[in-house]
Amino acid sequence: MVNEDCVWTLPNVIIWDMASMWQFHLRRWRCETVQCGTVKLRVHSPNPENGPRSIGAVKVLRISVTDRCNYRCVYCMPADGVAWLPKDELLTFEEIAAVAGAASRIHGIRRFKLTGGEPTLRRGIVDLVYLLSRTGAVDDLSLTTNGQLLPDLARPLREAGLDRITVSLDSLRPDRFLKITRTGDLATVLRGIDRAVDAGIDSIKINCVVMRGVNDDEAADFARLTLDRPVTVRFIEYMPLGESAVAVDEIGPRGGCGAQQRGDVFVAEDEIRSRIEGEMGELEPVDRATESGVGPAVVYRVPGAVGRVGFISAMSKPFCSTCNRLRLTATGVLRSCLFEGGEVDIKPILRGHSPGAADDVADQLAQAMVDCVRLKPETHSYHGNEQMSRIGG
Ligand code: SAM
Ligand code: SF4
Repeated sequence: MVNEDCVWTLPNVIIWDMASMWQFHLRRWRCETVQCGTVKLRVHSPNPENGPRSIGAVKVLRISVTDRCNYRCVYCMPADGVAWLPKDELLTFEEIAAVAGAASRIHGIRRFKLTGGEPTLRRGIVDLVYLLSRTGAVDDLSLTTNGQLLPDLARPLREAGLDRITVSLDSLRPDRFLKITRTGDLATVLRGIDRAVDAGIDSIKINCVVMRGVNDDEAADFARLTLDRPVTVRFIEYMPLGESAVAVDEIGPRGGCGAQQRGDVFVAEDEIRSRIEGEMGELEPVDRATESGVGPAVVYRVPGAVGRVGFISAMSKPFCSTCNRLRLTATGVLRSCLFEGGEVDIKPILRGHSPGAADDVADQLAQAMVDCVRLKPETHSYHGNEQMSRIGG
């Protein structure tokens, strides 16, 4: 129960949030009265331009280009029976470019990540990369992929203007890799990573979702990849999203997505980290500013390693207060949060069906971004209503 009347005005207080480097000018503190009678103070920034709910905090727009995928990762999709979105509901490349242009010109958001589903399955993905990289709206264009089509696509993507790539890779053992992805071929993905290096994509990240009884025994093996390669391996905590639960025994002693909700599969960052440190020595913190991209990972180095390891720990260490991204689904919905947050449908604006369609489309798109970012929850809901392949991670 919040007592809205109890607002104190104080002399100007300035707080630096060292994690985000935001400066909060505080003049008002709000008194929050809780039922037990204790009182706690909540910092209340008077300036709407500060904090993750301000458009000024957004540095990255993640753009999903398809909901389709050639894998069926156990933690992301059901094995079969997935209902794909009708193609005419997907944003066209011109519509995507219009959104990127508005984000860039009006809000200064100049970093874009293409994702999916599997973005390399979208017909003409190389053309989209070419289009976006030539708009003058983009400083950094990256793509998250399962890597299956990378052997053929790495060079064309690079030549079209792709700056960086993230490859999802959850096991270094071929059999296990196949079980987790249900269709993937590890050797092909590893070849794809080599091709990306050969093509001159010099910032490569590897995402690994850690699951107990499935691949948690490989944490140190993944960290070992960084010893002589300039890659960043990022360990991702499993997040329960959508309806992708699998049968308990499908991939290991405790199963996948559905099992997580019973607490079986989830492995927290601290445990992953101590597994790695137990084999490889204490991880050394790395200055975040030296890491490419502005992602949520906290980054370290194995002693003596060329590359880095990072942790994306949305469940055990939510980073909502420093969230710097917006998401655009393949059907043109801006999403404020990966879990359950507010959404703003911008397809009516793009397709000329919005009430103010006569106004400049770019201005309307830009306003929709402001409206969406205001819907970000204070802390995420720990459970998502939509499976990851529909949102893009
Ligand atoms: N298909 C591409 C890929 O796998 O990289 C891009 C889309 S995928 C949805 C983006 C990222 O989300 C991947 O790194 C994947 O491992 C991660 N992901 C999917 N479902 C997840 C879940 N339930 N918990 C944690 N990460 C998940
Ligand atoms: Fe496909 Fe990526 Fe989801 Fe795996 S994580 S099923 S590769 S969208």
